[in-house]
Parts: sequence; structure tokens; C-alpha cells
Amino acid sequence: MCEHCAGDSSAQMPLGRRNLLKLAAATAASFALAGEAIAKNAKAPPKPQNVLSPDDALARLMRGNTRYVEGLTKRHDFAHEREALSKGQNPFAGVLSCADSRIGPEYCFDTGRGDVFVCRVAGNFASDDTIASFEYAVDVLKTPLIMVLGHDACGAVDATIKSVKDGTTLPGHLPALVTALTPAVKAVQNDGGDMLANAIRRNVMLNVEKLKSAGPILKAAVDDKKIRVVGGIYRLATGRVELLG
Ligand SMILES: [Zn+2]
Repeated sequence: MCEHCAGDSSAQMPLGRRNLLKLAAATAASFALAGEAIAKNAKAPPKPQNVLSPDDALARLMRGNTRYVEGLTKRHDFAHEREALSKGQNPFAGVLSCADSRIGPEYCFDTGRGDVFVCRVAGNFASDDTIASFEYAVDVLKTPLIMVLGHDACGAVDATIKSVKDGTTLPGHLPALVTALTPAVKAVQNDGGDMLANAIRRNVMLNVEKLKSAGPILKAAVDDKKIRVVGGIYRLATGRVELLG
């Protein structure tokens, strides 16, 4: 035994026995790590009250909207939520809404942080990026509900109607919005009545269908009844969200 090995009893053992001890120590460490990972996965979600069925999630969203309409919104204690949410998130609903400054999904459903997973774009249509975002919400965060939320007097839909009617091309990147919203506008062209209101409604319905049929993740979740995808229209004058049937 050399001086460097003094005090290390394993150094006095035959090579085979030393390797066996090392292997045992490494295996024990691996089991400890695996156990830690399992315990981490099995821990309670940051907001246990957000673990809901799709129907219960929708009912909670609409109760929040009723409070908002009636001017009875809760006081949200963001400081109180902060520590739990620093560890993760489990929103009970996803919302695809317009970028319009008058539509605030967190406000109009009277929700706190960590409650709604929101994607916003002018005209509230689902692009590949939006679908991917909701795939993350559904598959990883276990969100049970997605709502496509249109609204009265949507400027993006109105601009698309004008562009389709006049055959004009809008400046900048706006044609990308027009392209995305044109199917809804064309679908209601011959319906009569208020074309803007009809196109807003049809756009919501088309995007509900698009999200429902977006394979493989969202479609499978809908088929397995793990999630619901619903449509709503936010009424500017009252703040009420009307569900589309
Ligand atoms: Zn809008």
C-alpha cells in the first residue's frame, strides 16, 4: 500500500472486490436519482384546484365571466401564488383570442396567474405555431379545455371583408392575416344579414374545427374526451362571452 492509499480500506482489497463496491455505490446512486425523479413527477400540481374535467373547466370559465360582467371580480393575490407557480404551471383552460386591446382573456374570465394558457393574434385564428402551443398545453400541462374567443367589431375580420370585396392588397404583412381569415369571409358571403358578425362567428367555428382535427395530439385528446374545444364571442358592450353551440 502506498502513502496515497492510506486510510482507504478498499485500496487494500483485491481489484475485483473494489470494482464490485464501486458498482454497488453507483447503482445505489442511480436508484436514489430515479426515486427523486419519480417523487418529483408525482408531486401535487402547483394549482390543485385547476385539475378539472373539460366540462367543469368550462363551467368555471363561464362563472368567472359572470363575475366579470356583474362587476364582482375577485381580488387576485398574485404574491400568494408566486411561490407555487415558480415550480410549474397547470392552467385549466387555453384561450385563443384576438390581439384587440379590448379583449383580455384573464380579465374577462376573472382568472389569476397560472389559470389560462393564452394565445393571441389579430383575428384569433389557429396557425401551426398556435396549434403547437396548445399541443404543449394539452400534452404537457394537461389543460382540459380550449376556447376560441372571437369578439364584436373585429378589425382584422372587417379588413379581410373589405380586401375580399374590393380585391385590394393590404400593405406590409397584413395580407397574411387576410389569407388566414378569408375562408370565414367567403363562407358567409351569400348569407345575408350582418356580414361582419356572420364572418366573426364563422371564423370562430372554423378554428374550433381546425383545433379539434389537428392530429395527432389535439385530435386524439378530443377523441379520448380528455379535452373539449369550444367557441365563444366576447360582446364588447356587456363583457359577456356567448358560447357558440
Ligand atoms: Zn379582433
